[in-house]
Amino acid sequence: MNKISELFGSMVFNDAVMREKLPKDTYKALQSHIDKGTPLSLETAHVIASAMKDWALEHGATHFTHWFQPMTGITAEKHDSFISPTEGGGIVMNFSGKELIKGEPDASSFPSGGIRATFEARGYTNWDPSSYAFIKENTLCIPTAFCSYGGEALDKKTPLLRSMEAIEKQSLRILKLLGNNTAKKVVTTLGPEQEYFLISKELYEKRKDLIYCGRTLLGAKPPKRQELEDHYFGAIKPKVNDFMAELDEELWKLGVLANTEHNEVAPAQHELAPIFASSNVAADHNQLTMEMMKKIANKHGLVCLLHEKPFAGINGSGKHINWSLATDTGENLLKPGKNPIDNIQFLLFLSAVIKAVDQYQDLLRISVASPSNDHRLGGNEAPPAIISMYLGDDLKEVLDAIAEGKSEVPMRDRKMGIGVQILPDFKKDTTDRNRTSPFAFTGSRFEFRMPGSTTSVSCPSYMINTIVADALMEFADQLDSSDDTQADALKLIKEVYQKHQRIIFNGNNYSEEWVKEAEKRGLLNLKSAVEAFPHFTDKKNLDLFKRQNIFSPVEVTARQEILFEEYCKLINIEALTMLDMINKDILPAVSAYVKDLSDVVMSKKAISEDIPCEMEKNLISNLSSACDCLYIKAAALDQCLIEVNTIEKVCDAANYFFEKAVPAMNELRAIADELETITAAKYWPMPTYGSLLFT
Ligand code: ADP
Ligand code: MG
Repeated sequence: MNKISELFGSMVFNDAVMREKLPKDTYKALQSHIDKGTPLSLETAHVIASAMKDWALEHGATHFTHWFQPMTGITAEKHDSFISPTEGGGIVMNFSGKELIKGEPDASSFPSGGIRATFEARGYTNWDPSSYAFIKENTLCIPTAFCSYGGEALDKKTPLLRSMEAIEKQSLRILKLLGNNTAKKVVTTLGPEQEYFLISKELYEKRKDLIYCGRTLLGAKPPKRQELEDHYFGAIKPKVNDFMAELDEELWKLGVLANTEHNEVAPAQHELAPIFASSNVAADHNQLTMEMMKKIANKHGLVCLLHEKPFAGINGSGKHINWSLATDTGENLLKPGKNPIDNIQFLLFLSAVIKAVDQYQDLLRISVASPSNDHRLGGNEAPPAIISMYLGDDLKEVLDAIAEGKSEVPMRDRKMGIGVQILPDFKKDTTDRNRTSPFAFTGSRFEFRMPGSTTSVSCPSYMINTIVADALMEFADQLDSSDDTQADALKLIKEVYQKHQRIIFNGNNYSEEWVKEAEKRGLLNLKSAVEAFPHFTDKKNLDLFKRQNIFSPVEVTARQEILFEEYCKLINIEALTMLDMINKDILPAVSAYVKDLSDVVMSKKAISEDIPCEMEKNLISNLSSACDCLYIKAAALDQCLIEVNTIEKVCDAANYFFEKAVPAMNELRAIADELETITAAKYWPMPTYGSLLFT
């Protein structure tokens, strides 16, 4: 325990370090900059930069970098050395306030959705002092936001910061209107649970699909799958334990409160749940976590697969996002409080979430849409592509009673008055039973279960923040002119529930009946990423982003363009990889097998025409027709990839990939997997599912 407290945050320029290293007035100026946005003078920045540099050098750093999250979804760094030459051939270690505040990485290598082409090629990174600087591999990393010359966001952090501001502003308005004047700050809190697979590095390196695409494009199902969980853990445990111990330690040094666990359903699958933090910090930490997972796995002869669906037929990986709102006075705004006034406050915030989720189902769906997550959503392991909310029976009863104008509601063994008595304590076990809901209330927070394991948490987080901010704004605007805020707030809660209750569903989201029921209710069912993306620029959404100062229409259009572009690139890489594996590995391997079988037939015949060789002949025939089929269909997919190049608009190309390439790949896979099951093991040119998952 002692060791952990020493380790924890030891590589972070955190509050404690700043208090110690910064002059008092500098520390105060920085705090006021973070809390209230008071501008920071260049002199103050100089003092901070100098203290940061000294601390970093003490901890072995030689370089610094602006660490940012471009639209590629991974983090980017451009390392600079602290070293500056002096006259006479010496060196000094330098780091200026200017270098701390602003950087200018080569922006042309990052996706911009056309923004840079129309404005300026330059991009800037701007220091985000609300997330602490840290040292990673001898480099001082300074979290930054990345934008264009004209100020357009080119990254995933900027909209998150903007959305946190938006929701804070509206939340504080609501709190004030309800007479809560003590809270001065409201932050969104986030606890992302990260799922991942660990497999042997040696086997990984024998599969092009894993190397290029992070998932298997082919592979027949092993005779046994998740049933073998126990057996599997017995064999691999020591290696995985070492990995987890090192991962925890490295993350603790970076100030990430990680707690790794073996607790997932699929073989070789694990989960890491950190302790929640402010959304911005949690998003940075999640990026660091994913990076560390990959690096550390590598050191242990393992590979960490973060892909949403590395193995067909086996549960995929998601990233559950636990989301709530907290005040600087330590109050969780989604906790059904202890006194009646809090109930109204809680119910009002809850209503804002209900309204937001119903009105902006499309945006929530877009925030988790990707070609890789398409494999998960709608399978019987992850929520469907339909957005709905789970509130639990207790809470639903309360809202039902309010909507019906009742003055009290029977609650378990007691009667509860509406708005005047205390809400029941929502124990986790009464609210968390439904694991099939995409957006579930779990007693004191919401858990958004649709995000995929590779997704940056920023996108789903800023979407939730933005849509809820907008609902709160509408409430605050209405209550502003009210003479009886409590009564009018209760009225609002009632109206919202009556209008938006179609979004609430406490049943089994995996069932067929729900799909039908949801359609009846008029809920959206955007089954795939390419069906979801176009809604990004719907007028109501452009208006929302503008109203909440998250994005200009140009920024939204650019983001949509990037999503389509990414979709095309990814499917193209997958298709090319599949063709390569089929043409260069599978077809030659099966041909070799057919040749050997034919040799056997000939040898038998040479001895005597009477020796039976039905088995060989049947196999040769089946293998040959499957190979022909594979060959012809591979050529068709190849043709498809040529044709798509003639399509001009990226959204049309994405649609073409979705409608033509994806089904063609599915067909190819079915044939290849069938071939795998009838080909003798020693001929099959790559490790099978059985060996990947169980050895
Ligand atoms: P489960 O596995 O049942 O979903 P866990 O306790 O493993 O639950 O994970 C819950 C996650 O939710 C953790 O990351 C935790 O830090 C986070 N969490 C808890 N309270 C909040 C909150 N108020 N806001 C955001 N995240 C929270
Ligand atoms: Mg969970």
